[in-house]
Amino acid sequence: MRVVGLWAVLAALLAALTGPADVPGGPAASPGQVMDPGGPGRMTGPQDPAADRRRADAVIREHPEIWTGAEVVGSGRALVVALPGGADPADLARRADRASAVVARLAGPVRPLVLAPATTAQAAVLAAPADLTGLAAVAGAGRVTVEPVSFARLSPVGRDVVLAHELTHVATGASADGRTPTWLVEGFADYAGYLGAGVPVPAAAAELAAEVRAGRVPAALPGREDFAAGAPRAAQAYEEAWLACRYVAGRFGERALVTLYRESMRGDAGAALTRATGMGTAQFTAAWRAYVRTELS
Ligand SMILES: [Zn+2]
Repeated sequence: MRVVGLWAVLAALLAALTGPADVPGGPAASPGQVMDPGGPGRMTGPQDPAADRRRADAVIREHPEIWTGAEVVGSGRALVVALPGGADPADLARRADRASAVVARLAGPVRPLVLAPATTAQAAVLAAPADLTGLAAVAGAGRVTVEPVSFARLSPVGRDVVLAHELTHVATGASADGRTPTWLVEGFADYAGYLGAGVPVPAAAAELAAEVRAGRVPAALPGREDFAAGAPRAAQAYEEAWLACRYVAGRFGERALVTLYRESMRGDAGAALTRATGMGTAQFTAAWRAYVRTELS
């Protein structure tokens, strides 16, 4: 998950950084090919029409009352089921396809199914039992559900970052495993999200940077409760987690970060940290605090 409070701020920053026309090139969705104009959804441009049709139909059957008039759009690896009035399905499919390429390199292959309802109420039903409050999108089993109002507030780069973040959760399935430390789950997802986004560190970690410049460096890695929607420093918790993973990748290599993540999912996160970095939790925390100070001062 990703708190939207941060993104509301970041969206403004990113708009200033990238300009409104930042729509990076990528494979366009194929021209519209109406496959089943009489069905509940209209499908255009899928890579594997029959398989994508089955996946889309399965989603539509879960909530036929929501998906009447839905459009189904494929682009490369991504498949989007969307309603008029929600996010633009072709744009969403292109972004999800690009994001899935980054995620695949780090977290394994993912063939994203992205649900783009028209209203917040529909998104809440589709995302249940996950709580979408305060989020632009949320990962579920094999899919990402977009909350249309919050997602629309994001800058183009912000949308890419959020999609890659959520698709990382989909690819790893780790958000629900209960073993991997939350800072690693969320930091790894943001590491994938920001990879290649071209966002300066102080802009991506604006809330934490303000604290560090005021002389307040976090004392410890954030815990699960620090990421909760409505937590007073939720934005900073994500930024702290991101920087912890960025530190591991920068100092020990990206493979070390990936290995740390995979080994943490399998069992003892403390031992995995020591194998990946040669440090225990206390020493790692001290090194991370120094890194945060250096990156954000
Ligand atoms: Zn997340």
